[in-house]
Amino acid sequence: MLRLKINSLRAIALSAILLIPAMVFFGCSGQNSKEQRNPYGLELINTYDEYYRSVQLDSNNLMIDLEKYIPDVVLDIRYAGTNNFTGKQIYTAPKAFLRRPAADSLLKIQQILAQEGLGLKIYDAYRPYAGTLYFYEVYPDTTFVAAPWKGSIHNRGVAVDLTLINLATGEELQMPTPFDEFSDRASHSFMDADSTVLANRAKLLKIMTENGFTMYEHEWWHFNLRNRAGYSLMDISFEELEGKNRK
Ligand SMILES: [Zn+2]
Repeated sequence: MLRLKINSLRAIALSAILLIPAMVFFGCSGQNSKEQRNPYGLELINTYDEYYRSVQLDSNNLMIDLEKYIPDVVLDIRYAGTNNFTGKQIYTAPKAFLRRPAADSLLKIQQILAQEGLGLKIYDAYRPYAGTLYFYEVYPDTTFVAAPWKGSIHNRGVAVDLTLINLATGEELQMPTPFDEFSDRASHSFMDADSTVLANRAKLLKIMTENGFTMYEHEWWHFNLRNRAGYSLMDISFEELEGKNRK
């Protein structure tokens, strides 16, 4: 009896483990029910048609492909591979999209940086809401991972994770931690580092905050668009954003 119980518990646990990644890998292509994809009942845009209507109402809602829009920008979309804190591939493609005003600000920042031989490397931009659900399952600490009952600013297409690079070599400027190191060292108030490293972090902070973004105290790489009110949470895939696989 007891063994039976343990076995059935094991089966439930196993199916939960198998179900969670499935929600992410297939969550954006409409194979899961709306309840599974939106368990907190948030107001979400989750069809291409709804997204398209929102762009017709306000062109600032347009999600822009940063790779096409910003000359020489480098993408290192960590969640499109396994080199991230989950150890799993979350995204179907290494793409970075942001709403039009955020993309415009980054374009300007890249142009300013280019004058001194520097550029931007993007780790993450718009993140479908399914990703936020999964991240919290893996790492349930809302200092570093957005609360799925609220959604992330990444889900609204107005947050970006990035660093500075040498434009000629592509080499990253040294920062206090690697991307997504969930520790006190990732905070802007962490000062126990080499002066060059602190100067690099300060340079990124200055150029971002002077050009339309606000910082997030706990993560040197994360910035939010300052004027970010009114952008909906979204749970549509990169492919759908590009108008492919329209439902
Ligand atoms: Zn972020």
